[in-house]
Amino acid sequence: MKNSEENPKLIDHHVHTIYCGHAEGTLEDYVASAGEAGLGGVGFCDHLPFLAFEDRSLAMCWEELPRYVDEVLRLAGKEKSPAVKLGIEADYFPGQEETLYAIFRNFPFDYVYGSIHFIEGWGFDDSRNVEKYEGLDVNDFYRKYYNLVVEMAVTGLFDVWAHPDLPKKFRYRPDNQPVELVEAALEAIAANGMALEVNTGGLRKPVGEVYPEPWILEIANRAGVPICFGSDAHKPEYVGAAFVEAVKLVRSSGYESHVTFKGRRPVELELPT
Ligand code: ZN
Ligand code: FE
Ligand code: FE
Ligand code: ZN
Repeated sequence: MKNSEENPKLIDHHVHTIYCGHAEGTLEDYVASAGEAGLGGVGFCDHLPFLAFEDRSLAMCWEELPRYVDEVLRLAGKEKSPAVKLGIEADYFPGQEETLYAIFRNFPFDYVYGSIHFIEGWGFDDSRNVEKYEGLDVNDFYRKYYNLVVEMAVTGLFDVWAHPDLPKKFRYRPDNQPVELVEAALEAIAANGMALEVNTGGLRKPVGEVYPEPWILEIANRAGVPICFGSDAHKPEYVGAAFVEAVKLVRSSGYESHVTFKGRRPVELELPT
């Protein structure tokens, strides 16, 4: 993996740092690791603080946000290769649209990830909360998740749908593939000019798969939704992890390009062969 020939021009848009309270590594560590992995760029995408509560094990606090931004921008100005990008991973909670809009406008983000980690107050991807899966109506859980994705997309606030089929993380699956729910979500994603993240972090989770699955990528490709790559690294060693596999996956789902972002606009790039 750590071979400069393997990842030409690929950009890892999704790395976390010590800022978020549950990741290791300074920003410099991640840039160094991206360089070793031969990536074209690395995008910091640490967790935005929550509006309704503070949890230092999940996100930086508000006072740290300007520091995070300054630190990334300082590195971005200094590093020519790999390129350094400023992103943020923000949770979508219905009702917080106006506040989020104001925050996103206040900082020169290259891109904003939209994530759903909470359903009705339950942090469903947090391994500390898995007891809630016992006796859960999994079909209903998936329905609520994808309905929230539609709501998130139509706000127009976000550039990327993060880890698209995250509900599979702990291997709870609905009775049938939720094709109609995914189609509706991708329609809203397409209509609002968002991209889909191909997130290799799932390979390191109980599910052991990339987010999203190939059938979702195929629908996304038909719907004209662009993709970007992310490792969701919470340790520097995972920057660019399994990107070779991810490229194969998106190619076999029909993709010939991927995107990166500058100033919240997508920039199309050719996939390496
Ligand atoms: Zn995280
Ligand atoms: Fe996330
Ligand atoms: Fe993340
Ligand atoms: Zn994530």
